[in-house]
Amino acid sequence: MLYDQIVLRYGDLTMKGRNRNRFEKRMIDQVKQALIGFGPVTYFKSYGRLYVKLNGLPYEPVADRLKDLFGIISVSPVMSTELELEKIQAAAAALMQSIPDKPATFKVNAKRAWKAYPHTSQEMNHLVGGYVLRSMPELKVDVKKPDVELRVDIQEEAVYLYYEVITAAGGFPYGSNGKALLLLSGGIDSPVAGWMALRKGLELEAVHFHSYPFTSDKAKDKVIELAKRLSYYSGEPIKLHLVPFTDLQTKIAQSKNDNLIITLMRRAMLRITEQLAQRSGAGGIVTGESLGQVASQTLASMNVIGRATGLPLLKPLIMMDKQEIIDVAVRIGTFETSILPYEDCCTLFLPKSPSTNPNLNIVMKAEKQMLGYDELIAAAVEGTEELMLSAASQTAVQSAGEDSWF
Ligand code: ATP
Ligand code: MG
Repeated sequence: MLYDQIVLRYGDLTMKGRNRNRFEKRMIDQVKQALIGFGPVTYFKSYGRLYVKLNGLPYEPVADRLKDLFGIISVSPVMSTELELEKIQAAAAALMQSIPDKPATFKVNAKRAWKAYPHTSQEMNHLVGGYVLRSMPELKVDVKKPDVELRVDIQEEAVYLYYEVITAAGGFPYGSNGKALLLLSGGIDSPVAGWMALRKGLELEAVHFHSYPFTSDKAKDKVIELAKRLSYYSGEPIKLHLVPFTDLQTKIAQSKNDNLIITLMRRAMLRITEQLAQRSGAGGIVTGESLGQVASQTLASMNVIGRATGLPLLKPLIMMDKQEIIDVAVRIGTFETSILPYEDCCTLFLPKSPSTNPNLNIVMKAEKQMLGYDELIAAAVEGTEELMLSAASQTAVQSAGEDSWF
């Protein structure tokens, strides 16, 4: 095998000083964590890049895993060689010959990052390009739109040759931007919101409200699968809080505020979540809400619901269309699980006409009138179970959306 390393690019030029160092350290920790179990890889850091030495492992599974981690812009499998010209030329020819779909045209793009190297970038383009042409006479040079652009990156410690640049997930490394709780239902939206929150570098714990025995174990298993899938992207186990919501929900449903049931349920959820956040040191709540999607997702509803908590509510999907959300769900491998037909706690007590414009005073009054409301909130917090979950396997999804993953 020609490739002996994978290079990871993560340099965000807008990030300076301390932030950058912290970011870099988190990123490297995350990569190491994600590659545990892959085999004997080693690491080398140089100028805003991380090199993963494969030590004989095939590059595909490693590159596949790395492209799904956050904080990485792109990855390339590279062939490294010593700095002698003959070695670089031989490596370039070997790499060009190994390309499966035989290219008709190419160009060499050399970059002399180590300025003490005797040949300039321009000279290297000719020296390497000429050698490749002599060894592969069928090949032609096309500087404008080549089939293959062979990069030759000249550094002090080695020269790296590559032509593939695989776009990675981008964003910030896991946990580099604080911690939040994700309200995770079994639906399509909240896992996508979770993935987007992870991409922004938020450390996440998931919170799920269940109404056992009205909701089945299957519904719970579905949420567990979704949480596991999210942990594949963070590369770390994720904590899932399972909140018993039956008593509160029953109380709310009996309170004769039919069209306010959803508003009252959502406020109760936020109150409970806020207390869980205090315990776990989370500074925000992430939800899968999207403007206008259902009655509780109008501006007026979100206003009244959001006032139940002092924590910032992060809603990454708020301006997205359903189809866009579905596209992401398919790509990240949560869609197939999300559409499994098990009851969610909120659909159980769904009123005929939920209010799209609830009145805050009436809602607050209704809450005051519910006997034992605060105690029920406290009991739900007390009765919350915690599960630590991690992805069954750290290898990438075969093809996003295929249920073979689970
Ligand atoms: P989703 O597809 O995420 O279920 P949705 O479009 O069905 O979203 P709602 O059911 O109104 O919308 O829920 C809005 C948000 O409230 C969800 O995205 C999720 O963040 C949160 N949520 C709803 N039900 C639950 C639940 N049982 N446990 C935890 N969070 C929930
Ligand atoms: Mg839902």
